[in-house]
Amino acid sequence: MPDLSSYSPGVQAYIRRGEALNEALAARRAAMRQKKFDTIAVHGVYDADAALANQGSIIEPVYLSTAQHFENSDHLEAALAYLMPSWTYTRIANPTQTYLEETLALLEGYGCKGNVSALATGSGMSAIFLATQPFLSQETGHQMNIVASARCYGGTFMLFHQRYGVERGVEVRWVRDPLNLDEWAAHIDANTRFVYGEMPSNPGLSVFDIAAVANLAHQHSLPLIVDSTVATPALMRPLQHGADIVVHSLSKSMTSTGMAIAGAVIARHNIPSRVGPDEMRQNFALYVKLLPYRDHGPGLSPFSAMMTLNDLRTLRSRMDLVSRNSMQVAQFLADHPQVEQVFYPGLPAAEGHNVARQYMWLVDGEDDYGEPVNRYGHLLGFTVKGGPSAARRVYDRLQLIFRATDLGRIKSVATIPAISTHQQQGEEGRALGAVPPHLIRLNVGAEHPADIIADLDQALEV
Ligand SMILES: *Cc1c(COP(=O)(O)O)cnc(C)c1O
Repeated sequence: MPDLSSYSPGVQAYIRRGEALNEALAARRAAMRQKKFDTIAVHGVYDADAALANQGSIIEPVYLSTAQHFENSDHLEAALAYLMPSWTYTRIANPTQTYLEETLALLEGYGCKGNVSALATGSGMSAIFLATQPFLSQETGHQMNIVASARCYGGTFMLFHQRYGVERGVEVRWVRDPLNLDEWAAHIDANTRFVYGEMPSNPGLSVFDIAAVANLAHQHSLPLIVDSTVATPALMRPLQHGADIVVHSLSKSMTSTGMAIAGAVIARHNIPSRVGPDEMRQNFALYVKLLPYRDHGPGLSPFSAMMTLNDLRTLRSRMDLVSRNSMQVAQFLADHPQVEQVFYPGLPAAEGHNVARQYMWLVDGEDDYGEPVNRYGHLLGFTVKGGPSAARRVYDRLQLIFRATDLGRIKSVATIPAISTHQQQGEEGRALGAVPPHLIRLNVGAEHPADIIADLDQALEV
């Protein structure tokens, strides 16, 4: 905080006004933290007072304006010094983005004791970049390394391997079996900057013990970053289990109607890190928003922010429905004679099922079902007998299920990762990430499960 006496009385008046605005927002957050998940998802921090300040609009307005008008030069100075809440310019901040960020922080922080903040970004990949890049500063002069589960999204693999590893000389230490704690432990040393895992992973649906890996990371003063895109906060909230930063592709289940590309960095306050300024540790999401996000420029369109906000309102009931559909589809596939293996954490035979069962619960499920219920999301994978050519034949026969490199959709969609999302990382990279060439990745939508199963059944006919 700069010395306030160095500012003119006019600017100081705006700073005081800013303090009052911040207190009002903090009170609104605190009030919403007392509410249930569905209520938070529907309202966020947009209450009756916020509506009255927006011509009474009960739905959050979409502010498409690039910039904010200031009352006078004192107001401008206070805002640009980040000394009062303001948005200034849509690459830096925007009211509609802020509505989304506040909702995301409340949902991901649901059930967490401490404070949580969020930053919404233009894509999931930009969120992963912004969540990791601040830990790669050159300040120590030592060769640095990062420790990450190899069972991850193809884009993440390329970011870490190619952009950080090959192009910038960061040593990438891949964890081949994320269920093996000894492997995580063996990779971490004095030059590690962060620990990274994806759960459940895309496309392999791998899981890991978040609490145990968080413990390991914290023993070394390192943050654990978790990509929780596939689970969403409706089924799992890694911050509750000790993770420090959660990243999301909001383009997937969070915006299931498929009308926006967006991402999020959501962090608890006071995270560990061996590098970076104190502000970065105190409130990582805010720090990234004010500085690296501003300077790198992956701004989220306010229109896309609104699309995401609209879909988020029904996140919990939707994830319940598509998870139940997926369980039926997974069981059908597991019993089918042409199917070699099914990857779905909800199946008792799945690798890591016990860990998934420990972490993946429908939030507030006891209110619907009288007891907590496990739910495992709507992404699954399966391999068919006969290898890659058989997989392509089955894939090409799908009629209802769309052929697209997409997931999280309200519509069922399938892809073959080896020739799509995980093509660029090559055969060696796919072997490392456990992506078989004949894997079909299936996102189960909200259609009637009998119709999804019928489509798969006809496609699997020999
Ligand atoms: C799609 C995806 C990403 C990247 O998100 P975009 O919004 O497409 O940039 C990251 N992680 C996972 C697990 C994903 O499925």
